[in-house]
Amino acid sequence: MAQVKLEHVGKIYPGNVRAVKDFNLTIEDGEFMVMVGPSGCGKSTTLRMVAGLEEISEGTITIGDRVVNNVLPKDRDIAMVFQNYALYPDKTVYENMAFCLKMRKFQDPNAAPGSNGLFSWWKLRKMKKAEINRRVMEAAEILGIEELLERRPKALSGGQRQRVAVGRCIVRNPKVFLFDEPLSNLDAKMRVQMRTEISRLHNRLQTTMIYVTHDQTEAMTMGDRIVVMKDGLIQQVATPANLYDYPDNIFVAGFIGTPPMNFFDAIVESKDGQLFITEDSFSLVTPPEWKPKIERYIGKKVVFGVRPEHIGSPTAEAVDNAPKITATVEVIEPMGSETYLYMKAGANGFIARVDPHRTCNVGDSIDLAVMMRGAHLFDVDTTERIT
Ligand code: ADP
Repeated sequence: MAQVKLEHVGKIYPGNVRAVKDFNLTIEDGEFMVMVGPSGCGKSTTLRMVAGLEEISEGTITIGDRVVNNVLPKDRDIAMVFQNYALYPDKTVYENMAFCLKMRKFQDPNAAPGSNGLFSWWKLRKMKKAEINRRVMEAAEILGIEELLERRPKALSGGQRQRVAVGRCIVRNPKVFLFDEPLSNLDAKMRVQMRTEISRLHNRLQTTMIYVTHDQTEAMTMGDRIVVMKDGLIQQVATPANLYDYPDNIFVAGFIGTPPMNFFDAIVESKDGQLFITEDSFSLVTPPEWKPKIERYIGKKVVFGVRPEHIGSPTAEAVDNAPKITATVEVIEPMGSETYLYMKAGANGFIARVDPHRTCNVGDSIDLAVMMRGAHLFDVDTTERIT
């Protein structure tokens, strides 16, 4: 187990491609940290720098007490699970898991003192067969793959192969696990199952884990904390709940959550001592506590962001005197436990998550309550959250 610290880390690829810029993050001992962001934002590069598979152009990476900038990958005490599991096709599951232990040599503090040099008693030895067996069987038990040990990879499903790939890491008992989009080759159902398995594995082992994905649902369901990246830069580091409820900027607000947050170009208006968020097709009174933060935006453009569950949902409708948006129903999407309405208000399209028993038809013009306390205002220029 170890803390992983990245300080002012940057990566410049040949051709002056700045893939990662001034990356600062401490991953606590035993923490499950997820890095998420769109393709090309620098997640894999960051993970590969921690693994030592990519040279660090700037900054310092520390694992435990040791700066690892110049330490070889095999000496970093980390284990990495890749998207393509890279199992040996001719070896059985057992041999796949045992192989790296057979090949490695370990420091043996119990070796007898020798005559050639001060530290000669600190001999390198191969791991004993019984110890290898113990570790493989323990990993197989943790992952529930005891029955598969004699099979070869081609006789396994995608999910089973992924378990073997994870098992190969577990046997090494590393200080840090690194996962690079490990579930992206699996079908949707298996992805959901493996997601819970990896979370369970983390709960059991309590080892530091860094997990890269482009899938925000995966990030939200697995991470103790999440790092959201864009264009090589950290946008926000927070717990899933804080990221969802208090996104720092428009990018994070739009990236986290499905269906995504609705955004409207609006202005702040002052009428009769109250402040309103006004747009062509609606004018919504703001909660009094917003006043100190939004006063300086009176008469100015802002971006108004509101999640689907804060428009027309039972909780939004239950708020006394909630302001309303009048809009036309374009598409009705019943999901069973809730219904999504794709709405049009003036030139704006937006999504509302309403009670599944609410009756309406395509083409109807309906009023939807807006729960302003769940909504946000963003600065047009900086894109940062104001409220
Ligand atoms: P992500 O994992 O978020 O999809 P990557 O870390 O793979 O992103 O890539 C970040 C950026 O670095 C991208 O613009 C990508 O094209 C570039 N990049 C990645 N690997 C190399 C490389 N070996 N040489 C040059 N550019 C690279």
